[in-house]
Amino acid sequence: METQLLEADAASIEKAAELLRAGELVGFPTETVYGLGANALNAKAVKKIFEAKGRPQDNPLIVHVSCVEEIAPLVRRIPQAAKKLMEAFWPGPMTLVLPKADCIPDEVSAGLDTVGIRLPSCRAARDLIAAAGCPIAAPSANRSGRPSPTTARHVFEDMEGRIPLILDGGPCAVGVESSVIDATGEMPIVLRPGGITPEMVEAVLGSVRVDEHVMSPLREGDVARSPGMKYKHYAPKAQTIIFDGEADQVIAAICARYDEAEKRGERVAILGFDEHDFGGRTCISLGSVKRPDDAAARLFAALRELDERGETMAFCEAVSTAGIGLAVMNRMGRAAAFHIESV
Ligand code: AMP
Ligand code: MG
Repeated sequence: METQLLEADAASIEKAAELLRAGELVGFPTETVYGLGANALNAKAVKKIFEAKGRPQDNPLIVHVSCVEEIAPLVRRIPQAAKKLMEAFWPGPMTLVLPKADCIPDEVSAGLDTVGIRLPSCRAARDLIAAAGCPIAAPSANRSGRPSPTTARHVFEDMEGRIPLILDGGPCAVGVESSVIDATGEMPIVLRPGGITPEMVEAVLGSVRVDEHVMSPLREGDVARSPGMKYKHYAPKAQTIIFDGEADQVIAAICARYDEAEKRGERVAILGFDEHDFGGRTCISLGSVKRPDDAAARLFAALRELDERGETMAFCEAVSTAGIGLAVMNRMGRAAAFHIESV
C-alpha cells in the first residue's frame, strides 16, 4: 500500500474523513502526539489499528470526539467529578475513563467495561472527527514499542506501507500523550500523567490521587489499572540511565560515565538542557532547563534520534516531577526501565 503524506488542509481532511468512513486508517495530528485513527464504532476498522501497530489486543484505545455533545451515546453515565474536569480541561490533553455504552466494540475497550474519551484541542483533529461524522478510536501512531510520534515524519517512518494517508499538522505542541484519568468514581485517579497535571486536577476537585505505578514499573502479580502501563513503552535501543540531583553534580556524573562508556567502545549520547555545559560531548537537547514544557515537546524526538544515530548508551538529566515534569519523568523513566541514579 502506498502511504500519502499530505499537509492538513480542508481538502486532505475531507479525503481522510472519507477513508475513515470507508473503514480505513489515517494518521493525524493532535496537540499531544500523532494518532492512528479508525471509526471507533466499526470493529473491523479498529482491528486494523492493532495490526498496523503490532499492538497487544488487551491494550484499549482512546476514543476521540469533536465536541462534548458527541459523548452521551458513548458512555453510560458521567459522574459529577468528570463533568467538572471536562468543563475545566476540554478541549485539551486529557482522557477520561468512563463506563462504556454498548455501542463501543470490545476491540476498542479491550474487553473492559470502560472507555477512554478525549476531546482534543488541535483544530485539524477536531475538523477531521467532525468531517468523518463518527467518533475516532486512536492510539499513538507509532509501531508498538517505539516512541510516540510527534511529527508527521515520525508517523511515516513507522507506518509507511501500512496505512493509506497521514495528515501533516506540524510538530505536536504538548509532545507527550494525554493525561489518562479514571473518572468512573467521584474520586478520579490519574493513571497516566500528561499535559493536564495532577496540580491542575487538584485545583479543580480539591484533591487528587495519582496511581502508584506512574513512577515505578509494575511488579509481578500487580494489576494494571491502565493496561498500557504493563508494557515497556518508548524504549530506545541504547541502554538509558537517568541522573537526578543538583545540576552541577548531575553534569559531572554524566561526563564521567560518558567518558568511561566511550573508552569501553560504546556509542554514547546525553539528553541534556541547553544551559548545561557537557564539554563538547554529544548532547541531544531537551530545551531550556527553565521550561519543562520544552522537555515534554522534545523527549520523543530525542529518543528516536538515539536510535537513528545508533547510540548504545544514553545518559539523561532528570527533570523536576512538578507540573508536566511528572509526565516527562514517567516517559523517560520507562525508556530507562526506571534506572534512575541519585547523585
Ligand atoms: P495510546 O493511545 O497509545 O497512548 O494508549 C492509550 C492508553 O490509554 C493506554 O495506555 C491505555 O492503557 C489507556 N486506556 C485507554 N482506555 C482505557 C480504559 N478504559 N481504562 C484504563 N486505561 C485506558
Ligand atoms: Mg501509545
